[in-house]
Amino acid sequence: MLRKPIIAGNWKMNNTIAETEALVKDLIPLVADAKCDVVICTPYTDLAKAVELTKGTNIKVGAENVHWAEKGAFTGEISAKMLVELGVEYVIIGHSERRQYFGETDASVNMRTKAALAAGLIPIVCVGETLEQREKNRTKAVIRKQINGAFADIPEEDAKKIVVAYEPVWAIGTGKTATDEQAQETIKNIRGMIAHLYGRKFANRLRIQYGGSMNPKNVAGLMAQPDIDGGLIGGASLKAEDFSKVVKY
Ligand code: PEP
Repeated sequence: MLRKPIIAGNWKMNNTIAETEALVKDLIPLVADAKCDVVICTPYTDLAKAVELTKGTNIKVGAENVHWAEKGAFTGEISAKMLVELGVEYVIIGHSERRQYFGETDASVNMRTKAALAAGLIPIVCVGETLEQREKNRTKAVIRKQINGAFADIPEEDAKKIVVAYEPVWAIGTGKTATDEQAQETIKNIRGMIAHLYGRKFANRLRIQYGGSMNPKNVAGLMAQPDIDGGLIGGASLKAEDFSKVVKY
């Protein structure tokens, strides 16, 4: 298999430690025979519990953000080293909610990605256009800028560990999924952009997920597309039954 599929849950700001315990305990047996990589990205406060509960299982744990500095005067922030010490293996970077509400830019996405890679974390780098950008036919240009920004000055050796998540902003949390064709077309374009940066062979090995209202009903069609290597799942990752159905598309 050239690219092993990867399905990751993005819990966003949901679940206390007690709720994490219940959800992860339900999830473990349901996804034990999954053929893809399975990741749950949780709020910082749930990470230690999630790592403890998933030890020895096929579920990996990710954070939803990371700061770019090694340490220092950044009140309220969390470093990559802190995550690694907890046993965290993945981190979502540049989610559209962070770009929209917390001033995330392509430059800060790049800095966070470099810090994550340097510490040994696998970054899940999010890109995607708004509805207005799509309607103005700017999807490709917007995403090219995000991809070029995120991968800037990252050598091939490190870049190959990155997972890209294509998440059209208009499809996140709206119940409005991109059609299989829309998702495939844009992800194929993203693979072309990656090929432009690192060569075709490299691009053919990089994993690119789709994210945006992916659920048990639409997962099979999306995963059947030749360039779609998995999903970043918000709402449907909060219910063990639904997430396991997505994982076992
Ligand atoms: C997300 O938050 O990354 C996401 C895709 O959310 P949802 O599945 O709820 O649209």
